[in-house]
Amino acid sequence: MATPLSATKLLAVLKAEGCKVVEYRSWRTHNRNSKGAWGPVNGVMIHHTVSSGEDSSVALCYNGHTLLPGPLCHTVGGKSGKLYMVSAGRANHAGSGDGDVLRAVINETALPADNQANTDGNSRFYGLEIVNLGNGKDTYPATQYDAAVRWAAAICRAHGWGAASVIGHKEWQPGKIDPHGPVEGRGPFNMTAFRRDVAERLKNAASWSSGSTPSTPDTAEDPMAGMTKQDIYEAVWRTDAITAPATATDRATNKTWEPQSYLKDIGNRVRSMDSRLAAQSAAITELTRTVTQLATNSESLDADALVHRIEQAIEAIDIRLEVTS
Ligand SMILES: [Zn+2]
Repeated sequence: MATPLSATKLLAVLKAEGCKVVEYRSWRTHNRNSKGAWGPVNGVMIHHTVSSGEDSSVALCYNGHTLLPGPLCHTVGGKSGKLYMVSAGRANHAGSGDGDVLRAVINETALPADNQANTDGNSRFYGLEIVNLGNGKDTYPATQYDAAVRWAAAICRAHGWGAASVIGHKEWQPGKIDPHGPVEGRGPFNMTAFRRDVAERLKNAASWSSGSTPSTPDTAEDPMAGMTKQDIYEAVWRTDAITAPATATDRATNKTWEPQSYLKDIGNRVRSMDSRLAAQSAAITELTRTVTQLATNSESLDADALVHRIEQAIEAIDIRLEVTS
């Protein structure tokens, strides 16, 4: 259980961590405290804004929009490396997420999959919105990433938390993908690596200045490290654009085909074709043998006997008709 930092204290710890902080408008008193709890706080959460432009992104996070009133986070991380303070209270950034994840953050244990949306995160997490389109192509400059690491480390340090108190929005709320996209010099934004970088800072004094150098290459050993199942699904399937049923018949009979449905169906059809081909081959082989025998022995053709022999030949092979669609 931790009491949220005051605006003054929050500003002080960020500056002590070497953050370039900009105080935006009435950020100290701009909050959603009248709409719900702010605290006890248990961790920090990293987001991307799905926007571009530093000034407009900061204004958006301060004001919010028609569907979601601001503030939309506590701090906005610009591509310049500057951190803009937009709130020191409850903010609309985390929404409802997984209570199991919150418990893991509180205990600083390994994160479970986020498969529930049963717990208010806006009372529990400080939020950083990093300016990025979130399209998987927009790069986070190294200076912007370093500022985010410092921001998270400063708050963890102030509360006595470890790096396991840092999560990405994608690790909190089902369906979220942020933070997402390439980080300059590092590969895909990777929360495991991000926590490692926060942990590295926390081992040192707040004034430590070497935090911008990656401690280890994030992608050299395992390019999938830190990716969630959702990330992988998005990368592999959605971008292949084969999630919708291909034919009118498919759409009519099964409106919820997933990519794996196509794979299973193709597999079934191939096995079925194998079986039918084997049956045809057996029939032709038996027919050839019979005709040869008839010709050799100058016997007369008994049609019923011929059909029977072909049927037996087909039954003798291992036929697996598995088409179930
Ligand atoms: Zn988010």
